[in-house]
Amino acid sequence: MTETALLLVLTGVLGLAVGSFLNVVIYRVPRGESLVRPGSHCPHCGNPVRNRHNVPVLGWLMLRGRCADCRAPISARYPLVEAGTAALFVAVAARFGWSWELPAYLYLAAVAIALALIDLDVMRLPDKIVLPSYAVAVALLAPASLAGGEVRAVIRGLVAAVVLYVFYLVIAFWGMGGGDVKLAPLLGFYLGWLGWDAVMIGAFAGFLLGGLVGAVLLALKLASRKSRIPFGPYMLAGAFLAVFAAAPVGSWYSNLLV
Ligand SMILES: [Zn+2]
Repeated sequence: MTETALLLVLTGVLGLAVGSFLNVVIYRVPRGESLVRPGSHCPHCGNPVRNRHNVPVLGWLMLRGRCADCRAPISARYPLVEAGTAALFVAVAARFGWSWELPAYLYLAAVAIALALIDLDVMRLPDKIVLPSYAVAVALLAPASLAGGEVRAVIRGLVAAVVLYVFYLVIAFWGMGGGDVKLAPLLGFYLGWLGWDAVMIGAFAGFLLGGLVGAVLLALKLASRKSRIPFGPYMLAGAFLAVFAAAPVGSWYSNLLV
């Protein structure tokens, strides 16, 4: 129990730090800027952010949401991304515990937050993030399978990646974006690793969420039938619903043996 508590605290702190980095990714990747240089600075006056104000969430609270130099407002989205990343990290850690697959799903959580917000901002899922993630996912989950003696999970993941890719490629004829098609195999691999139930739940939940939100936006006249709604956030949210809803592979397996 104390081991679990320690894990949740550690992943929470890690989530805050990662969330802080994701703010940089979300802002700079669509603009084609470097992630390392220059350091964080106020977009209004250009002054560098002081170290003590660079602390996740607390820095923003200390500054009361304004630049220390020019008092220009700093979006509340920054601390929200940091707190949200920490919350998702803690949830993922609670789901997987101390395990080989935990780093892989934490990585997916970070990528999901970055991609969802970039898609909402600029209606794109940058290749720069999606394509390297294929390799990272395999590099993190293959050892997890070998350590767990579950080579079949990787094979199932690869098959599910192809299945979801083809599925999205087919529906792309009806207006699904190219970025969504390229995201599909990544989610297919992660969900397939957990099991076919996760793949089904994840894909279905994505369309359900996207459809529901689309219907609400139409009803509130916030969107018309012609407006494009980014679908990436719903694919990602659906995938995470499946990650949490689908039975953990380990317990499913032990139930099968009993
Ligand atoms: Zn400023």
